[in-house]
Amino acid sequence: MTDWVHTFGGGKADGTARDRDRLGGKGANLAEMARLGLPVPPGFTIATDVCRHFYAHGHALPDTLKREVEQALDALERLTGKTFGGGEAPLLVSVRSGSRESMPGMLDTVLNLGLNDRSVEALAAVSGNPTFAYDSYRRFIQMYASVVMGLDHASFEEIIDRVKEESGAIRDGDLTADHWRAVIAGYKIAIVDELDEEFPQNPGEQLWGAIKAVLKSWMNPRAVTFRALHRIPEGWGTAVTVQAMVFGNMGEGSATGVAFTRDPATGEDSLYGEYLPNAQGEDVVAGLRTPHPLTKEQADNSNLVAMEDAMPVTFQELRDVAKRLENHFREMQDIEFTVEAGKLWMLQTRDGKRTARAAIRIAVAMAEKGLIAKTEALRRIDPASLEQLLHPAISPDVERTVIGRGLAASPGAATGEIVFTSEEAVQATSEGRRTILVRPETSPEDIHGMHAAEGILTIHGGTTSHAAVVARGMGKPCISGAGTIRINADKGIMLTGGRTLRGGDVITIDGTSGEVLLGALPTVQPELSGDFGTLMEWADEIRRMKVRANAETPEDALTARGFGAEGVGLCRTERMFNDEERLRAMRAFILADNETSRDEVLASMLVMQKADFLEMFEIMRGLPVTIRLFDPPLHEFLPRPGRETEQVAEAMEIDPDRIRQKAEDLHEINPMLGNRGVRLAVCYPEFVDMQARAIFQAVLEAGEKTGEKVVPEIMVPLVAYERELKFIKDRIDIVAEAVMKEWDTKIDYLVGTMIELPRAAIRADKIAESSEFFSFGTNDLTQSTFGISRDDAGLYLNEYLRKGVIDRDPFITIDVDGVGEFMQMAAERGQRTRPDITLGICGEHGGDPASIAFCETIGLHYVSCSPYRVPVARLAAAQATLAMRAQQ
Ligand code: PEP
Ligand code: MG
Repeated sequence: MTDWVHTFGGGKADGTARDRDRLGGKGANLAEMARLGLPVPPGFTIATDVCRHFYAHGHALPDTLKREVEQALDALERLTGKTFGGGEAPLLVSVRSGSRESMPGMLDTVLNLGLNDRSVEALAAVSGNPTFAYDSYRRFIQMYASVVMGLDHASFEEIIDRVKEESGAIRDGDLTADHWRAVIAGYKIAIVDELDEEFPQNPGEQLWGAIKAVLKSWMNPRAVTFRALHRIPEGWGTAVTVQAMVFGNMGEGSATGVAFTRDPATGEDSLYGEYLPNAQGEDVVAGLRTPHPLTKEQADNSNLVAMEDAMPVTFQELRDVAKRLENHFREMQDIEFTVEAGKLWMLQTRDGKRTARAAIRIAVAMAEKGLIAKTEALRRIDPASLEQLLHPAISPDVERTVIGRGLAASPGAATGEIVFTSEEAVQATSEGRRTILVRPETSPEDIHGMHAAEGILTIHGGTTSHAAVVARGMGKPCISGAGTIRINADKGIMLTGGRTLRGGDVITIDGTSGEVLLGALPTVQPELSGDFGTLMEWADEIRRMKVRANAETPEDALTARGFGAEGVGLCRTERMFNDEERLRAMRAFILADNETSRDEVLASMLVMQKADFLEMFEIMRGLPVTIRLFDPPLHEFLPRPGRETEQVAEAMEIDPDRIRQKAEDLHEINPMLGNRGVRLAVCYPEFVDMQARAIFQAVLEAGEKTGEKVVPEIMVPLVAYERELKFIKDRIDIVAEAVMKEWDTKIDYLVGTMIELPRAAIRADKIAESSEFFSFGTNDLTQSTFGISRDDAGLYLNEYLRKGVIDRDPFITIDVDGVGEFMQMAAERGQRTRPDITLGICGEHGGDPASIAFCETIGLHYVSCSPYRVPVARLAAAQATLAMRAQQ
């Protein structure tokens, strides 16, 4: 290997696929293909070190580069039997960029380099095709003038148009060699006119101009932006590959195309792609002509001739090369090729992009064939992409009219008529109409509307807002925090993107992208194929952490089990008070002005809650179920001021002023920092007694019914002081004693706490004295660690993300440095006091792959997430285990 330049061709290469850091993805894979003896036009790659040198030394090239390039060119001439820019058989080259990661279309390329007034004639003679030769020359001048000399395209277009007009030609393809000569003459004049310099005739000068231009394109604005978006370090630099040209535009028997070794949409094991007869690569990209299908199978529903029919021999060769490449790289490849006068040439190969469905099918098929290990198959699937498969998605090929944007709060697509209240949603559903519930934000009052609607759109709230969390639990698409949309529910209008929409107008929401779209768009239903199941089984064999679900309704619990949940990690009991009867009871409890009437309400609640828990235990059949005591501030259960309050008062047969007074009494400036969680439990311990009794009675009944022993995990939220927890645990123990005595039996149960406040993390060793498990409530822990509101932070966090102040939304992915530090501290301190303490997470992060990877590193025993994310978590947990093993 020389210092800067690495040659390839003729069955040999100075470099391999492993050298992508130095040779770029393209250069490294060309070297690899050459080594494999595949038909690769020979050439050489200037390493990325040169790019770094170029920028470190004020655009100067290393001293020895010139000599190395000259030597490589000599070798190239020998290998091809052609002469660079001259002789009877002129050697023409392409000069292409190539970075470590693909940056499609961001960097520059020059083709047909080496053509000049003399070599074009030689090319015309050897090819026997003057039209092709002069067309190639004018393409080169056009590209070179624009990429290297910085001339605007527009003047060239005018020149071609003029020649076409004069000659009566309609398409470029109608022009002859003489026409192209006229075009070339026009181009040269335009260059002198505009730049005051001649188009260079010396091939050496052309080459160095192109090499420098490609290096400079590394810092062009679109490349800089692309790198920022994809986190590609500037220091990587681009390689420059100089390669002998082959021509797909030499007439009949020539072509250029792209191929995937498997169908990138479905993953089917058959060659898939497009080609253009008699064309150069850029024609495929430019989209001026419609490409033809590669295979007969693809050609089925088109009237274009497939390559398989048009060039059967070359096609067979392409198919063989494709298989060889796939087997060699053990990955689906995306290939560029050219056929020059019947001979196949490979120009590029790289790992192909694919849909989630195809990714699974390909990985499973390759592992089953023994091409890759099962663990590798698991590593290759992006867990988050699985969500695409679990929810209906908008058909990929329909046009979208985006009328607003918000946070992608719960994935999937839903279409329906706009409704502004939950009552309308319920009404419309009962009439068989589909709706999208559009609200400023949602509250427990809206559950029935959210259930009825196809999807939910809220103006306020983040990704852990009520709407987002509930929608994810229900598996319904949801967009939250769509701050640019204005609604006026009284007038029944919604203003967005300069449009006024009314109740009844149809919109589609894409909860996967956060886009609000006009009209009804067709969707495709999920298909949980056999490959999906296979992949999940493999994940289960590997992963260490268990996966539980956050669920409080029988539907949620059933969905969760269907997706493979191994228990319930969070049952938010307040959500069990959403239906009308429960809400009424809750309000009666809040409004009760003496102990007797409160006891009456609690007695009725006990019956309801016991039934709830019984159902949950029956569905989960002996799997662990973590039931969290009532958590949110009470005011959330009172009706909104105005009409709603009057209606509720009327239904309860009380004076609306009583409700207003109570709302005022309960009013807090910062309810999220207010009387909620364990604080409520301390203020209303009789409520805790009721919930504990309901749990224990349900345990006993479920055990009798199912024959499976139930060990409930009772969880106390928002604990900060160790004595808060002790106070509540004592109450629970007393109730347990009483129930055991009444039933004359023994009940095993656990009492534990959520760790969702910094103080709890700090005092975890003390808290663990009365806590048999910890579950990290990372929604609140993030809120309280940062001191930002989980419901409103979307506004400025989006700005932070856009301006690069933060890389990730801490409510979506755990902030490892801060919140994560608290988690690790709590885990360690908790284990110090109680080595066998169970550790889990139940905040929304429990379904986020990056956060799950972190949970593995601190040794949590399980993650808990919304039912639809259970498969995501199963795979992410397996990947986390693999990553830990790789580190050890
Ligand atoms: C949490 O805070 O992370 C949590 C799970 O509880 P909630 O979202 O109900 O506050
Ligand atoms: Mg919480």
